[in-house]
Amino acid sequence: MVLYYTRALSSSSGIELRCFLIMLLAIFVINTPVSYLKRDKQNDIAFQLQTINDTLIQRKHHIESLNSLRSTQIAKQYFESPLAFDDLIDNLLAGQNLISDIHIVSTNPSSSYRHQGLIHSFNPFFASPQNSHSSQAFIEPSKLNYTQFSPIYANTQHIGYLVVEVALDEFAKSTRNNILLVGPSGFVYASSAPSHRSSSSISNTEVALWEQLSRSRRYTGMLENSDDYFIYRKVEMLNDSTAYLIKVVDKTEFIPKYFYLILGLITLASGCGYYLYKFRREHQALSKISYQDELSGLYNRHYLRKLEQRSTLRHQSYVGIFDIDHFKQVNDKYGHDIGDQVIKRVAQAIKVRIRDSDYTFRFGGEEFVVIIHTDSKSIAAQIFERIRTDIASMNQAPNVTISGGFSPVVSSLPQSLKQADQMLYKAKQGGRNKLEAYCDKAA
Ligand code: GH3
Ligand code: MG
Ligand code: MG
Repeated sequence: MVLYYTRALSSSSGIELRCFLIMLLAIFVINTPVSYLKRDKQNDIAFQLQTINDTLIQRKHHIESLNSLRSTQIAKQYFESPLAFDDLIDNLLAGQNLISDIHIVSTNPSSSYRHQGLIHSFNPFFASPQNSHSSQAFIEPSKLNYTQFSPIYANTQHIGYLVVEVALDEFAKSTRNNILLVGPSGFVYASSAPSHRSSSSISNTEVALWEQLSRSRRYTGMLENSDDYFIYRKVEMLNDSTAYLIKVVDKTEFIPKYFYLILGLITLASGCGYYLYKFRREHQALSKISYQDELSGLYNRHYLRKLEQRSTLRHQSYVGIFDIDHFKQVNDKYGHDIGDQVIKRVAQAIKVRIRDSDYTFRFGGEEFVVIIHTDSKSIAAQIFERIRTDIASMNQAPNVTISGGFSPVVSSLPQSLKQADQMLYKAKQGGRNKLEAYCDKAA
């Protein structure tokens, strides 16, 4: 016994798995470059913050360098002749906004001096010359003011303080947009972001974010709220406390609006598209199996039944039936396999004689049906006759002939087939290797 295997059609679960893999691939293909772009942008911003921090460090050094003024003779002699010092300061402060004021105050200022209380609290500390190199700082967030007090000594005697006042908003000023300098308590010293005013407090406006930021041990990083990313860098403030330099970036700058929605739709579309494509292919393959004759490769009887419903066949077509003459003898003499070869050869000979728009069917055994699109009886007769003569003149053993009958398709295909079959019978009766045309006696 011989078993014939045909390739199994892909199982439905296999297609679904492939759909899923295609969807994953779509996500990977679209999302990966976007993640790279996002990382690149994040690195760019981190670099921006680093540059701003470098500027802050320069400004800090400049402010600290002003402390050296306290050791100058004109500072030490300030209480005797203040003019020289005042001139120097006028020149130093001209044309800049960072240092809002530099002045000298005695260890016992008048009550109208706004830092009188502070001075009295610093005095005991600076009375000892051991502390002569230190200084004290004081930040007034609400006034955006930083004040630095450095002691002045004349012959080891503490005589007063050099007071340098810095405008914090100028200190933190940046030419970049959306930059915040936030103090250790969340107070915004300076802001170029419209969403966060300077002198506001992000510990009130961005509670969750501030909590994460103040807990973070990382030096740089990125946090987010619903609309924005906050890329931060820890920096050292003037009084050496830790502050945060933050760039606020709208999320759409990183990832286009509706990106995830579009990604989802593309993923779904590629998955569904693949599924439908495979489904169609499977459907076509199944149609082919159910409408094709395996031996000859021609259409089978089922397809003929399907065609019967097509109205276009009527009035413009001729149907012919062919049957191989004395085929039983071929089988008997050469065997069934050779008989099969003959069926294939005859099928092929019919096929090459008709156009793509025409149809050939193996109707059963060694019988063939041919439908050709023409409304001319003489053209139909010509084509059918050529098929017959082609086969009769084949020079290949075993030689066979065919007989045929044909009829126009008038009212219905089954009716015309019946008439063509009567003509085939007539051709057989008339001696075989013949073609007979149906003549409508009513016409
Ligand atoms: P006629 O000229 O009157 O048509 O004589 P015939 O011997 O061809 O008679 P008929 O058409 O009735 O015989 C059909 C034979 O075809 C019967 C069967 O053995 C053979 N046959 C049917 N199907 C196949 C097939 O698929 N392969 C082969 N090798 N033979 C087939
Ligand atoms: Mg037959
Ligand atoms: Mg026959």
